[in-house]
Amino acid sequence: MMNELTTCPYCGVGCGVKAAVTGQQLIAVSGDQAHPANYGKLCVKGSALGETTGHHNRLLHPIVDGQQVSWDKALDETASRLQSIIDEHGPGSVAMYLSGQLLTEDYYVANKLLKGFIGSSHVDTNSRLCMASTVAGHKRAFGADAVPGCYADLELADLLILVGSNAAWNHPILFQRMQAAKTRNPALKVVVIDPRRTATCDLADLHLQLKPGSDAVLFNALLLHLVNEDRLDHAFISQHTEQFSETIVAALSLALDLSATADYCDLAVDDLTRFFDWFTAHDKTVTLFSQGINQSSSGTDKVNAIINCHLATGRIGKPGSTPFSLTGQPNAMGGREVGGLSNQLAAHIDFSNPQMIDRVGKFWQAPNISRQEGYKAIDLFRAIETGEIKAVWIMATNPAVSLPDVNRIRKALAGCELVIVSESMAATDTLTLADIALPATTWSEKSGTVTNSERRISRQRSLVPPPGEARHDWQIICDVAKRLGFADQFFYQHPVEIFREHATLSGLDNNGSRCFDISALSSISEEAFDALQPLQWPVTRHAPAGTARLFSNRRFFTPSGRARFIPVVPRKPEQQTSSDYPFVLNTGRIRDQWHTMTRTGRSARLLQHRPEPFVEIHPEDAQQLSLMEGDIALLHNPIGKMLARVRLSRSQRSGELFVPIHWNDQFASAGCCDSLIQSACDPVSGQPESKQGAVAISLLPNTWQGRLLIRQPPSALTPSTSTSAMLSPDYQPPSDYWVKVPLEHSTSYLLADRTKADDWNGWCHQHLGQAPDIWMEDPEQVLFRGCHIQDGKLQWVLLIGPDNRLPDTAWLDQQFAGPVTPDMRRQLLRASASDAQPVGAVICSCFQVTETAIRKAITQGCRSTQRLGRQLGCGTNCGSCIPELKVLLEEE
Ligand code: SF4
Repeated sequence: MMNELTTCPYCGVGCGVKAAVTGQQLIAVSGDQAHPANYGKLCVKGSALGETTGHHNRLLHPIVDGQQVSWDKALDETASRLQSIIDEHGPGSVAMYLSGQLLTEDYYVANKLLKGFIGSSHVDTNSRLCMASTVAGHKRAFGADAVPGCYADLELADLLILVGSNAAWNHPILFQRMQAAKTRNPALKVVVIDPRRTATCDLADLHLQLKPGSDAVLFNALLLHLVNEDRLDHAFISQHTEQFSETIVAALSLALDLSATADYCDLAVDDLTRFFDWFTAHDKTVTLFSQGINQSSSGTDKVNAIINCHLATGRIGKPGSTPFSLTGQPNAMGGREVGGLSNQLAAHIDFSNPQMIDRVGKFWQAPNISRQEGYKAIDLFRAIETGEIKAVWIMATNPAVSLPDVNRIRKALAGCELVIVSESMAATDTLTLADIALPATTWSEKSGTVTNSERRISRQRSLVPPPGEARHDWQIICDVAKRLGFADQFFYQHPVEIFREHATLSGLDNNGSRCFDISALSSISEEAFDALQPLQWPVTRHAPAGTARLFSNRRFFTPSGRARFIPVVPRKPEQQTSSDYPFVLNTGRIRDQWHTMTRTGRSARLLQHRPEPFVEIHPEDAQQLSLMEGDIALLHNPIGKMLARVRLSRSQRSGELFVPIHWNDQFASAGCCDSLIQSACDPVSGQPESKQGAVAISLLPNTWQGRLLIRQPPSALTPSTSTSAMLSPDYQPPSDYWVKVPLEHSTSYLLADRTKADDWNGWCHQHLGQAPDIWMEDPEQVLFRGCHIQDGKLQWVLLIGPDNRLPDTAWLDQQFAGPVTPDMRRQLLRASASDAQPVGAVICSCFQVTETAIRKAITQGCRSTQRLGRQLGCGTNCGSCIPELKVLLEEE
């Protein structure tokens, strides 16, 4: 067995992973003790990485127009179709849509091909949905897309402020570092600013549950408070910043006193006063912000409103004192380093300096270098819709789920002349729209680098061979580039050659003028690249071991070298509620899933925590709408609809709803929240306002609900909606509502429908290809139980009941593990919610500890998370479930 060190492919914390590999198989993963991001810890998603690898459900062969073809044929078709579109319509008719999941080396060659050789700037990335507002805010304030601080600052601070960030679920290991810091230093104050009471509030001394969209008013008021109290760093402001007076004038344009600010933000005056006092009193302040700030039609202004307060107090570039953007994706920052956003050229060089564009063109030996910005994501897909862009190459991302107004996006892709998708999984919503599908490698197969939230470059290493015919993204891009006539400039044999070129370009005419500079790594050997230890950029000959903290020298990357205050006049969200659509819709991630579930949806363990798309609603709102816990709700507005299971939650403000972003057509009949989000964008950053939909919600009428568990889903019965059945292998049940939940021994489908089925045996025959072998029915109560048994083993079981009180899924799944006994037959036919010993939702995914077991232990005397941990193990591994354990302790 060999131990290899690599990096987790999920969130921007960028944890180091130790992988045990035997032969060609990944055996186990654990945290890398030496990695400075996580020091040996992994959250539940990282811990489950081993369960998400393997050949199952992978795209294994190239497919062109629905037919499996050889790589040569696929590459020839890709290149010739691209070339003919370029010849007929010009280079601007071609676009790429990339991903923070790609490695830096993949990103580099993709950007180089399109911007340097094809001559189109329409290269954008899903980072546009994630943190484009932070990028724009940083560039406005610092003159560079650069996160000033480092993770160690969290442990040095006296005040931590988390704004629009549920770090407990979305950056769990960083959250645990904050928890540990507070345990070591009980005087450390933590403030959470979020319209929802999330798991992160578990750590908060103060939770400001403000009205959505009022953040800029809050931080402008804080800035004025600092002025009024004369708590400014006058020397820093006068010597190292500009635009202070204009910024104060702008803040005064909506000058609200304390009471009016509290009123505007819907906060208690006392809470606001406490926050302002704490900010004033604590020099060592770290303000962390994330999608709650970025995903807004005024996200860039909100970022700058936060940074303004740090500049006013000189709290930047000092240990324990910094604004800190938490990156969503594992390599969002690496993508931006190479120019993966359409308003950058490469290596933090934008399109504003014609001489630098020429220098890059010469460096690349590029015949067709782009000279102006391309379309940002939403505009890029609009250009596909209008036919201006006729070919798009999508890599490692799923825009048919993740972009706002997703039905329009799908329509645009369906009408696009050429859609090329490089993808590692066999079934995604975007892949069903592909003309050409290219099988790509993924985590555990790929080799290269990623950059995390604190500018730390780490290696992702190849652990196992690629399955089927899958190839690395950089290889696929280079092979197409060669066919387009650019063989010499894309003749890479190893990722280190790309990395060296990338590092060299970062130093091109730099001399300290651009923050991103890793030129000290320009001649790194293959051996040194293989052994590369995590290090933070800039990495220059003056700082060969990297740079932990930026701006300590008070020098910024603006033309004047001064940091810029940005005048912020707060604006309301674009998507406003109305009498027809009275609820504000908030969207976000959940603890155990990642993005569109293509990877985490493969782990039965990770689906136990929240198996269905859900909507959280305040109990009083629910009561007014006659919605109850466990009902299925229909959320809708003029652009789309979503079906979700109701969860009553006092963590929601009244009038607001929360839904998760993860579900899609592969896992649910209508679980995609982006069908409800309009494509309103921030005018500076182009980032969509994904946190602020406006919807109506009502009960989904149904005459029956049920649960179908199948050993092997009948793919032959798939009602395919794709251009090619080969790209849509998953079974989709014929009911208004269905949700797929892969389990250990079977696949479960939760079902509901409006239409009463008069003949369940006939239904089974029609939809499952077989009438049940044993069954029982009570038509009066709309009750049915039917099982198909073959070779002594359960093949499927269908249980229909009038509501959702059905036997526990885990119990049912266990019945597929062994042979069917006479007892089991009786139990399956008789099974109901009460007699099948439900085990409840899984709270601790690491040790599969259920809510039922935890509640029982609490009533038997476990009155703390530590005692629960000693008795049941829950909360003792990754710690992600500790906030929920505390809620259960409170409830019991
Ligand atoms: S916090 Fe979890 S998801 Fe994020 S990088 Fe670390 S292990 Fe991966």
